[in-house]
Amino acid sequence: CGIVGYVGSVPASPSPRPLEVALQGLARLEYRGYDSAGIAVIDDGQVRVAKRAGKLQNLRDALAGEEDTTSPVAIGHTRWATHGAPTDGNAHPHLGGKDDELALVHNGIIENFAALRAELEAEGFVFRSETDSEVAAHLVAREMQGTGDLTDAMRAAVARLEGAFTLLAVHRDAPDRVVAARRNSPLVVGLGEGENFLGSDVAAFVDSTRDALEIGQDQIVTVTADEVVVTTFEGELVPEPKRFTIEWDVTA
Ligand code: GLU
Repeated sequence: CGIVGYVGSVPASPSPRPLEVALQGLARLEYRGYDSAGIAVIDDGQVRVAKRAGKLQNLRDALAGEEDTTSPVAIGHTRWATHGAPTDGNAHPHLGGKDDELALVHNGIIENFAALRAELEAEGFVFRSETDSEVAAHLVAREMQGTGDLTDAMRAAVARLEGAFTLLAVHRDAPDRVVAARRNSPLVVGLGEGENFLGSDVAAFVDSTRDALEIGQDQIVTVTADEVVVTTFEGELVPEPKRFTIEWDVTA
């Protein structure tokens, strides 16, 4: 339902910034309604996920005492369940790969998830949720094994998906970036200084920047701390993504 992403650089010492930005974004996205919430970061080469059904406070309680991280990235999600009950296990992010090397959040519905799940299960990928979304996590992880490039892996994965999706993925072998894709579901990027942001809408990062990019239909964006590269699903560079200024009075 709501998505937030953060990309900075590796902090000199454990920092609260990535989780702080993600939690602040999720709080801003609460207005959309949700039944669960979750967050992923990459700490010391390991993907770390916290997710809980119910209010955002449940997620905050789950994180209590572990807000400091050496992760340069964070992704977060508020879920409005379409496939699978609102449980901790069905909450996003979903881990992907045979070694939990990736985490992914999804807004929308993947129509052909059943066939993809059967295919991936036959290859030994283990599913831990009833969601349509988890197939995307394993698909991107599988493609990453082949290419080693998270953007190319995302491109290969979305070629297999039918339906509506905004996807954000982080991978332990490419911890400096968030790669996102969209079809029939919105995605915006917030531009900061030495850090950048992603969101399903600008509410996700309005506390941090007013400078934003609109990501178009069937496009992929690769975001690092100081670079944003937009390409099409076919792999062509989008030289001038639509830039805009967020006009919004933040009162709360
Ligand atoms: N279809 C996905 C699920 O049920 C995502 C729902 C959403 O957009 O929050 O988990």
